[in-house]
Formats: sequence, C-alpha cells, structure tokens
Amino acid sequence: MERTLSIIKPDGVGRGLIGEVVKRLEANDLTVKAMKMIRMSTTQAQGFYAVHKDRPFFGSLTEFMTSGPCVVMVLEGENAIERYRTLMGATNFKEAAEGTIRKDFATDIEKNVVHGSDAPETARFEIGYFFNSLEIVA
Ligand code: GDP
Repeated sequence: MERTLSIIKPDGVGRGLIGEVVKRLEANDLTVKAMKMIRMSTTQAQGFYAVHKDRPFFGSLTEFMTSGPCVVMVLEGENAIERYRTLMGATNFKEAAEGTIRKDFATDIEKNVVHGSDAPETARFEIGYFFNSLEIVA
C-alpha cells in the first residue's frame, strides 16, 4: 500500500469537476483517506512548489494556485503514486493519453485540473504539507 497527495486545482474546483475527479479515482481503487478544501496563500503555494522556484512559470503557477479554492486529498492504494499519475495524464494536456483527466478537462499547460505526487519522498513531503496524522484515517 502506498499513499499519494492529490490536489484538484482552482480550475477544476471552479468548473465543478470535484465529483468527476473523485469518481475516477474511486473507480480505480484509489481510496480517499483524507480530504479538505483550502485556499492557499501565496506563501503556502510558493512553499508547496519550492522545487520549481527557478522555473520561468513559478510566479504564474503560484498565482493560479492561489486564485481560488483547491481540494486536497490523501489517496491510498497499491502503487498509488504511479497509478494516480497515469489517471491524471501528462503535464501538457496536448500530450496526455486518451481518457486521462488532463486530456479530458485541462485547458492549458498550467490549468491542468489536478496535481499528484511524483515519487515516494515527494508524497511524504506533500502529504505532511497539508495534513497532520490525526486528519488521515487509519
Ligand atoms: P506535474 O507533476 O505533471 O504537475 O508537472 P510539473 O511538476 O512539471 O509542474 C507543476 C505544474 O506547473 C504543472 O502541473 C502545471 O500546472 C505547471 N506547469 C508546468 N509546466 C509549465 C509551463 O511550461 N508553463 C506554465 N505556465 N505552467 C507549467
């Protein structure tokens, strides 16, 4: 069993895609172990995406991530990190496989509806960024 962090980004929440995203991950045996809606401050978004701080899109990305509420979730399942990333599709929706969340709903390389951790160490950091142990069901 493995855990990963999922975010439904402000574009996904704003367009009414919470249910659609949750339906797809539950249909694929990814169990929601924690869930909440948050509106990140600029400092919180910059901290979350600190790994990208030198990228040209950092300012735009953090502005987008603070533009509205996000739904953050801890997902659990076998090989959850990789399986959730497969469901999400490629970062650039134009390159995403058919049937993926990003292929079906993203409108832009930045406004791509969902986030998912990309490795076990990242998942640990990202889950701890938003949830304490009491907030994650056993
Ligand atoms: P992910 O792991 O698939 O989300 O992709 P990355 O970690 O590489 O990038 C983080 C997020 O930054 C992406 O999900 C996009 O929202 C955004 N992003 C990535 N590349 C670009 C880019 O070239 N331009 C802009 N504006 N945003 C980008």
